[in-house]
Amino acid sequence: MGLYDQFLRLADERQQFQSSGLNPFGTCIDEIYSATTGRIGTHPVILAGTNNYLGLTFDQDAIAAACQALTHEGTGTTGSRMANGSYGAHLALETELAAFFDRPSAIVFSTGYVANLGIISALANSKTNVLLDADCHASIYDACVLGGAKVIRFRHNDASDLERRMLRLGDAAKEALIIVEGIYSMLGDVAPLKEIVEIKRRLGGFLLVDEAHSFGVMGETGRGLAQALDVEEDVDIVLGTFSKSLASIGGFAVGNDPAMEVLRYASRPYIFTASPSPSAIASVRSSLRTIASHPELRESLWRNANRLYAGLAALGFAVGPRVSPVIPVMIGSKEQGTAFWRALIEQGVYVNLVLPPAAPSGVTLVRCSVSAAHTDEQIDAVIQAFAVLRDRQSPELMANPAELTD
Ligand code: PMP
Repeated sequence: MGLYDQFLRLADERQQFQSSGLNPFGTCIDEIYSATTGRIGTHPVILAGTNNYLGLTFDQDAIAAACQALTHEGTGTTGSRMANGSYGAHLALETELAAFFDRPSAIVFSTGYVANLGIISALANSKTNVLLDADCHASIYDACVLGGAKVIRFRHNDASDLERRMLRLGDAAKEALIIVEGIYSMLGDVAPLKEIVEIKRRLGGFLLVDEAHSFGVMGETGRGLAQALDVEEDVDIVLGTFSKSLASIGGFAVGNDPAMEVLRYASRPYIFTASPSPSAIASVRSSLRTIASHPELRESLWRNANRLYAGLAALGFAVGPRVSPVIPVMIGSKEQGTAFWRALIEQGVYVNLVLPPAAPSGVTLVRCSVSAAHTDEQIDAVIQAFAVLRDRQSPELMANPAELTD
């Protein structure tokens, strides 16, 4: 048996995608022109499938700060946070993140994936019950495997299912970790945090919220869903990434207990991987200041989200359950979804294709991500591209809107 024989079916599927045109998985964006425009092959495209929620990838202050750090501190740290990879700027960013969240402790990691691995695998060992929303990100599942935790999944966004499972744990519920996300990246829906907090108050446990998609996007000052719902005091740890609203790369955890600092000595994903480069840290520090001082970016983002959501819904497409910067559109079968995704690129619009099982409930989605940097004309051009394709498609391609509301 060859080393890669176990992947034969996957290799076959990959081959089929590649030979039938643009490959939706690992699409090469050949050129990037701005936060919202680029080129794929011969097609100039509006980028409507990135996580660049506040459009800060080309922010001039962030670029200047990154260039300065590159010149003065070099291209990389060449070491982990624990060894030689903690520079003054990493510590300064931690202080700034803690202040931004008004919490005593913050830790910077190399990516959002690593932040989840680092915090959860250290906290959740083989004696720990972790109650996970079923739609949680792969990094949260992987973190539980790394720590050897006992995973109990509850139905997506179903607080009564969480409660039932907590009750079954009896006294052990008091020590359990509950993990949910702010905005979920597939459907754009949000966790029922108020109900979850109420259960936690009654039955105990600790609450971790991954605000990867909601940081910078929700809440009065952009701290995320917990801030928007006024339940921050009940959230023990907020996890986040620098790769979405903060437009760079890296991840973080902020906690309401200074004792979280000890995880720097107990977390293998903190100890055994290189720290983010000085330029990444510098751009994040700049963008964090921008988020704090420019709330109008969030307003533009939501105005654009409303415009796109309303436009696609008016065309009769089955869109996600609520207006959100993540707007999934359900498109028939896997084959129809792939053809639709390719045709959108020909129409000058790049979005993400999500096939089952990555998409919940076995549906095929094209997922749009809105940015504050999109202009009205760009949003309208995206809607127009969907309109052209709708008119070309057979009626059965227009999925039933009810199917996207779970
Ligand atoms: N958590 C969630 C909910 C995510 O959606 C993602 C990335 N899509 C991550 C964590 C990982 O973040 P990063 O890309 O910084 O590794």
